[in-house]
Amino acid sequence: MKTKHNADVAIVGAGIVGLAHAYMALRKGYSVVVFERDEFAVGASVRNFGLIWPVGQLPGVGLDRAMRSRQHWLNISQQAGIWLNQNGSLHLAYTDDEMAVLEEFMDLHGASGFAVRLLAPEKISAMAQAVNQVGLKGGMYSDTECTVYSRQAIRRIPEWLSEKYGLILRFGKQVKDVAFPQVCTDDECWKVGHVIICSGTDFQTLYPQLFDKQHITKCKLQMMRAQFMSHIPALGPSLCSELTFRHYASFSKCPSLPELDARFDLENSDFKKYGIHVLVAQNAAGELIIGDSHEYALTHDPFESEYINALIWGYLTRFLETNNLRITERWHGIYPKLVTGALEMIVKPENGVTIVNGLGGAGMTLSFGLAEEVIDNL
Ligand SMILES: Cc1cc2nc3c(=O)[nH]c(=O)nc-3n(C[C@H](O)[C@H](O)[C@H](O)COP(=O)(O)OP(=O)(O)OC[C@H]3O[C@@H](n4cnc5c(N)ncnc54)[C@H](O)[C@@H]3O)c2cc1C
Repeated sequence: MKTKHNADVAIVGAGIVGLAHAYMALRKGYSVVVFERDEFAVGASVRNFGLIWPVGQLPGVGLDRAMRSRQHWLNISQQAGIWLNQNGSLHLAYTDDEMAVLEEFMDLHGASGFAVRLLAPEKISAMAQAVNQVGLKGGMYSDTECTVYSRQAIRRIPEWLSEKYGLILRFGKQVKDVAFPQVCTDDECWKVGHVIICSGTDFQTLYPQLFDKQHITKCKLQMMRAQFMSHIPALGPSLCSELTFRHYASFSKCPSLPELDARFDLENSDFKKYGIHVLVAQNAAGELIIGDSHEYALTHDPFESEYINALIWGYLTRFLETNNLRITERWHGIYPKLVTGALEMIVKPENGVTIVNGLGGAGMTLSFGLAEEVIDNL
């Protein structure tokens, strides 16, 4: 016999998307229960860089959502005692064509709500000592990016929501069936006013037929953590270089990008084949989180390719001094990706039920802003 309970809102999934919806619903005064299949969340939300990265979004909906999310992260980190570094980001250029793309970004977007400026090499060396100065032409600094240590943040947010707002947590409980207004696990049934399903890469359990229709796939990303062997320098801003220009939508309209892209492919087309761009973030302990690659399929093999890791590391040495670094951990993460390129998938399979998914590689950046919109529209 299952026990019976009531709440205003039930949320399936305690990754960042589910937690952001829980936060927004609690702030509105709803009673909220979160169901998480695992004893603690182990999906994409704890496997990422922890970067809140507005500079990658296109001006308009994406950038606006990212900036609102950023503000929520600042508030939450302060109240919940979550480490957050407002360290900005630095896009580095080592050739004239890379520098040209950064200049074009400034021309296109300098007045569109980004807080960006170009820096000469001397300024960069003062700001980011670990950056490789050899051949450096310049860079673009953006003030809005922040870093959290997602393994800490994703554990702490539910605890804090429970302490501050009375969030009801059901960890280790899989939702096997939603028959609105009932949401059931093995031992409980909840009667609720609304269900929000934030199940990440699990497309199979709840409303699987809807996921097929949304042209959604899964992206596998390889990552590593590295430690400085002696002196730990402050990285300064999170770092990236040319490969990242072709990764984020905000660069897509830079006129010189296709030419740069073609040149890079001629030099080594495997970076594109494995979807590699290289970002470096630093956590509170001074360790570096480094990645990543992007491979797309509905089922991925569970192993990591050393060839891909070597490409990532090789590219990293182009812009970071790596002599003092030792890799201490490797892993991969998988996130759902909409092949249409849309920012998110929101579907209402029946009255009272909303599926929120498909935030791709920007869930840490966009979730709070998106959740604010979803909950406002409940
Ligand atoms: C390697 C990597 C690096 C990334 N870097 C960044 C970054 O720096 N910045 C950024 O903005 N984004 C980044 N992303 C993207 C971001 O991590 C994702 O967009 C985000 O974590 C997705 O969150 P989610 O809650 O949808 O999924 P998840 O974190 O996977 O959470 C879904 C949860 O739902 C639970 N669940 C599923 N079905 C059920 C069920 N039926 N019952 C109960 N529980 C269920 C699962 O157990 C899981 O815990 C990165 C992603 C990866 C993989």
